[in-house]
Amino acid sequence: MSVNIIPVPKELKQDPYGGSAVFKAVMYVPEKWIASAKAFASYASSAGACFSICAGEAEAGQAIRVIRVTESAAQKYSGGYEISVGTSGAEITAADVTSFNHALATVFQIMKNVAGTHSEIVLPLCRITDGPDLSYRGMMVDLARYWHPFEFLLSYVDTCWYYKLSALHLHFTDDQSYTLPGKAFPNLSTSGRSYSFEEIRRLNKYASDRGIEIIPEIDVPGHNSGFALAYPELFGTKGIICQHKDSVDAVSAVFSEVCDLFPYSRHIHIGGDEANLRKWLDCPECMEYAKSTGIDTSLPGEEICDRLYVNFIVRMAAAVKEKGRIPIVWEGFPKNMNDLVPRDIVVMSWENFYQITPDLLEAGFTIINCSWNPMYIVAPDVKWTPEEVCDWSVYKWRPVHPGSPFIGSSYTSGPSDQIIGGQLLAWGDRVISMFAGNENEGARVELGLLLERVPFLAQNTWNKDSGLVYNDIRDNAAAVSGRIGRIALGRVSDM
Ligand SMILES: [Zn+2]
Repeated sequence: MSVNIIPVPKELKQDPYGGSAVFKAVMYVPEKWIASAKAFASYASSAGACFSICAGEAEAGQAIRVIRVTESAAQKYSGGYEISVGTSGAEITAADVTSFNHALATVFQIMKNVAGTHSEIVLPLCRITDGPDLSYRGMMVDLARYWHPFEFLLSYVDTCWYYKLSALHLHFTDDQSYTLPGKAFPNLSTSGRSYSFEEIRRLNKYASDRGIEIIPEIDVPGHNSGFALAYPELFGTKGIICQHKDSVDAVSAVFSEVCDLFPYSRHIHIGGDEANLRKWLDCPECMEYAKSTGIDTSLPGEEICDRLYVNFIVRMAAAVKEKGRIPIVWEGFPKNMNDLVPRDIVVMSWENFYQITPDLLEAGFTIINCSWNPMYIVAPDVKWTPEEVCDWSVYKWRPVHPGSPFIGSSYTSGPSDQIIGGQLLAWGDRVISMFAGNENEGARVELGLLLERVPFLAQNTWNKDSGLVYNDIRDNAAAVSGRIGRIALGRVSDM
């Protein structure tokens, strides 16, 4: 029986004769991991196997037995798992709920049905020892430019789970809509285009059971005309959030609330891209505030703006850190401001324009690779192919911004622990015009584009350098992609 797994596991020892064994669709699981095992069972049922999940570590016989070990107990790969399938039993060994979910995703990729029954499965005789190289393996979806019904969010989590991604970054807000519910500033939520408290609670549980971190983003101080529409007296009407004590306190309160809304999220994204900073210079109130924070307002306008911008980012980051979370920003502050930005703010490096990656590295920042080329999916007229995603690595950037010094070429760093991973990013800028009146179809097309590329993102973040070429990975991906495609796209097919 052939064994196809994406991302390709570190070690896969197969029975030399390609043998397999039939198992009862029964899993014995440590009590605290039952929710994850039940999530697996729901996936398995969509593939025709009805699993019984039992608490405990019984003598499993022809069932699957899960063993919880401590991290130090001879785990070959940090955050890793082991699967051992022999003729007398199948065992999963994992240290935490995340690595247990990775093991479950592998089992789901390699299990086959037994014709005529839902109560048995076939597994290949094998031993898999596996673990990720990089801690951040992500997928971002812009939920603000057009409306994505809630079910899409669950499909993104399914996709992350299946390919062992660590994070689903959701760009909840932008000029077009503010899709989160809120209590402190309820008018921020765009009517008819925001998720309910109950949906966010459901999303958190769904992702947490599957070992996926949701990273919510509120994009400030630009990209958020909804703030001005809802509370003009507080946030101003200049296309950027006005800075004075009340507005800065208000946005800090929004971030505190977002932390509470997403209790399992270790990271909170505070945006920080493409703001029209010069608008602050025209506002007497903002300039007064600049003075009050110690900024010398006789400096050149550009420097005042950069200092105000950094002041804002640092304040929002502080609100996030106060809740014990890690703030993330887009690469948006110039190199000469680095001394003012705490190094515990993680930077998503995307344009290599506002600040270039080598300067961020030299300054000591922790970085996530969001290289425009080939990681951006601007649905539906996407520019980069799955093969290009396959050729990408977390150490490689190909800018698209004409002002980048690396335009027309690329930047490749050496291996660096400061680069913790990378992600695909789906932006729906053109969906509204191209799918006018049928945004759900646009969202499905976008999900299809993600599903085509995620296997290669997963491969290149789970394995820094597997030595595999596109054709090898493509064949593996083709073998496993059908099962998740049916689940993720099937869920949203009739919307
Ligand atoms: Zn102002």
